[in-house]
Amino acid sequence: MKKEFRDLLKERGRKELPKVLLASAECAPLSKTGGLADVVGTLPKSLAKLGIDARVITPYHRCIKDKYASQVQHMFYFYVQLGWRREYVGIEKLELDGMTVYLVDNERYFGDKIYRSEYMEELEQYAFFTRAVLDAIPNLDFKPEIVHCNDWHTAMIPMLAKTQYPGGMQSGLKFLLTIHNIAFQGKCSFDTVQDLLGVDSKYYTPEFMELDGCANFLKGGLVFTDRINTVSPSYAEEIKMPYYAEGLQGILNARAGQLSGIINGIDKDVFDPRHEAGLPAHFDKGHRKGKAQCKAALQERLGLEQRPDVPLFAMVTRMTEQKGFDLVACVLDDLMSREDMQFVLLGTGDERFENFMRAAEYRYKGRLCSYIGYSEPLSHLIYAGSDFFLMPSRFEPCGLSQMIAMRYGSLPIVRETGGLRDTVIPYNQYTGEGDGFSFSNYDAWELRDAMRKALDCYRKPEVMEGLIRNAMSKDFGFDRSAEEYAKLYVWML
Ligand code: ADP
Repeated sequence: MKKEFRDLLKERGRKELPKVLLASAECAPLSKTGGLADVVGTLPKSLAKLGIDARVITPYHRCIKDKYASQVQHMFYFYVQLGWRREYVGIEKLELDGMTVYLVDNERYFGDKIYRSEYMEELEQYAFFTRAVLDAIPNLDFKPEIVHCNDWHTAMIPMLAKTQYPGGMQSGLKFLLTIHNIAFQGKCSFDTVQDLLGVDSKYYTPEFMELDGCANFLKGGLVFTDRINTVSPSYAEEIKMPYYAEGLQGILNARAGQLSGIINGIDKDVFDPRHEAGLPAHFDKGHRKGKAQCKAALQERLGLEQRPDVPLFAMVTRMTEQKGFDLVACVLDDLMSREDMQFVLLGTGDERFENFMRAAEYRYKGRLCSYIGYSEPLSHLIYAGSDFFLMPSRFEPCGLSQMIAMRYGSLPIVRETGGLRDTVIPYNQYTGEGDGFSFSNYDAWELRDAMRKALDCYRKPEVMEGLIRNAMSKDFGFDRSAEEYAKLYVWML
């Protein structure tokens, strides 16, 4: 154990590091739709290196069943009451790469989709998961001291534990709630929460879980959890302001003393330009011949003109307004028609953005490719083969893609918000400092100027060399984040 942890434990009057149970809707590599899964799947492994036993509880989605059923061990089962229904809960256990995962099994709620497309069905899915986790905890072969909840899907766990389980669930059990994205809050009528989770009507007030005439899962969690955290220090500040808080600024300002931010990390073994089997060639910051080969392979794969000298911009993303697609839509034609550049997009999401990008591909055949879909292997080739990576987000709690891009020597072009602001140092033409490009306001012309600045640098090999080296030298491994979480856990006890 590191000396600073030993000292911290001594200061807090403890001998051992805390035991933690992470509750989450998704967990990579078992189930994943976005960054939440990456964090929950990586944190326990990094915490284990520090001596912390952190386990995960997550739904037994069909995608997990299909792949891992033979490795899963059945633990026990019970029934929970959800509204008028009595529902089966199976608790299965899976050991995967040194991580212990408890899987909550119920075929009605956890089938093909991690999140049901019908909003009320999704809400019921995670109301069920909340109840199942609460009732499973006392019977697990593991006694957590902290339950670490993530986003609205598990936010009601602290509220129900403190209001419905007399005397508390377990003496001294503490709750941490991490906000990965405040835009999703789990809103519904109070009748629905009362029906599904038996919440007392005295909690349907602005002091507790009411917000704008709705019951709000995330707000309920923020009121009752012991500690609140989010995934970057800048986002922790931003969500106290109305522009970013999506209505929750009141409770977040009231609890500002218990709110902090820890930047996420990435799994350096999964994103590894030096060894990754899926890449056509390998490289590191000192030897980048392999990167040029990856660029050629990417151009070939996506039907782009085979030109090593042309600057290649990329995006790998969910196609939503959050990710700044309206800005991209505004400046893309201007740039593509005036500049010698290529553009690659991998993503799915809002139909209007998908259609815009499909049409753009038609207009700029051979220079622009829109791959509408989800593909892990292609995403790695894009990170490895591109020169610049675009993230002009309206808001970005942390963002993993900019860190991944830097690891592969693709320079990020970002809006200065949330985790993007905390991880990218903008190029300073006077000092030569920096590892990417940024702009401040959510404004299409500012994005265009930042992209033009990047194009300018591309024509100056010595500047590019410095920026790429800076970007590839950064350590975004999860171990650094895990240490911050470990300290936070110890503080909580
Ligand atoms: P968010 O969690 O908001 O979607 P992040 O940047 O935190 O954004 O994480 C996104 C993760 O999902 C990255 O690992 C990125 O490579 C991956 N990703 C996003 N869209 C796709 C896609 N269409 N295909 C493959 N990977 C994707």
